[in-house]
Amino acid sequence: MSFAKPPAATPSAPSAAPSEFDLIRRHFSRPTRHTDLAGGDDAALLRARPGMQLAVSTDMLVAGTHFFADTDAEDLGWKTLAVNVSDLAAMGASPRWAFLALALPAADEAWIAAFARGLFACADAHGVDLAGGDTTRGPLTLSVTIIGELPHGAAITRAGGRAGDELWVSGQPGLAGLGLAALRGEARLAAAGRTACLAALQRPQPRVALGLALRGIASAMLDVSDGLLGDLGHLLECSATGAIIDVGALPLAPLLATGADEALARRCLLGGGDDYELLFAAPAARRAELQVLSAQLGLALHRIGELTAEPGALWLRERDGRLVRGTPAGYDHFG
Ligand code: ADP
Ligand code: MG
Repeated sequence: MSFAKPPAATPSAPSAAPSEFDLIRRHFSRPTRHTDLAGGDDAALLRARPGMQLAVSTDMLVAGTHFFADTDAEDLGWKTLAVNVSDLAAMGASPRWAFLALALPAADEAWIAAFARGLFACADAHGVDLAGGDTTRGPLTLSVTIIGELPHGAAITRAGGRAGDELWVSGQPGLAGLGLAALRGEARLAAAGRTACLAALQRPQPRVALGLALRGIASAMLDVSDGLLGDLGHLLECSATGAIIDVGALPLAPLLATGADEALARRCLLGGGDDYELLFAAPAARRAELQVLSAQLGLALHRIGELTAEPGALWLRERDGRLVRGTPAGYDHFG
């Protein structure tokens, strides 16, 4: 327990502040589906299934670094869990259990209730049990550890890509980056475009169904949290390959439709973070299956390039056929 109140100035003043345990009971206790004992004891007991491997990931969000301190609490609750669910999607794992470590500057119950609403909305959408956590006083910091399951050996890591595999990305990368630019006053967007960009930034949709469906199809995969080219760099490093990206195949038009100018749209598409789309490699022979999958899921899958044999080399093929060296931040015209 660690939500001790600071020493009271007047020891006899009645204390209306809820205890740590009141807060947890009121806001973070919910029935569970795959947990034998969740919350309230020294440890949770997870119902492990025989033959399954566990995928585990932790992500931390710090106010001022990862989000604006005045971000809507319900959106923040959603996103805190969604970014972790996305990491499991990127492995091809089914998310099951989450542990929530919270540092809160104050026991603001309205804020906590809204945060919990957003978090449980995401948990319900993906069948995740909140199985435990820790709650403490401190600068607003949100950390989730998530655990998921997958059959032994079925995980899609960053390391399995081979030269000749085609590169694909889901959905609409760049929208979240445009949303951030709009919040910072760096982009003037049309009203509908602004709404779509802010939704992408604040309510990212982890691509769990896609991640699961790609088991046995994708050779390597990761989720795009830090920007398309930057995250692609991680995949290239782990797979010891290079890549050529076809600029003409990148989904730029929907970004332009928000009202963003072309330079900003390209920057957000290639280098904007917070998208949580899946970037993956797959043998060319799987192309037709992927097109069927895209239709089944109602989720765009864009074939944006291919892996090459030269380790770490990232090239962009411009519309006129010119090859330009790519950098994690976007273009390096002098490279
Ligand atoms: P301990 O002192 O043994 O670490 P705590 O007092 O920190 O236990 O927590 C009590 C119980 O409440 C534990 O089961 C813990 O998992 C759960 N818990 C604490 N904070 C949260 C939270 N934010 N969300 C969900 N469960 C929580
Ligand atoms: Mg504790």
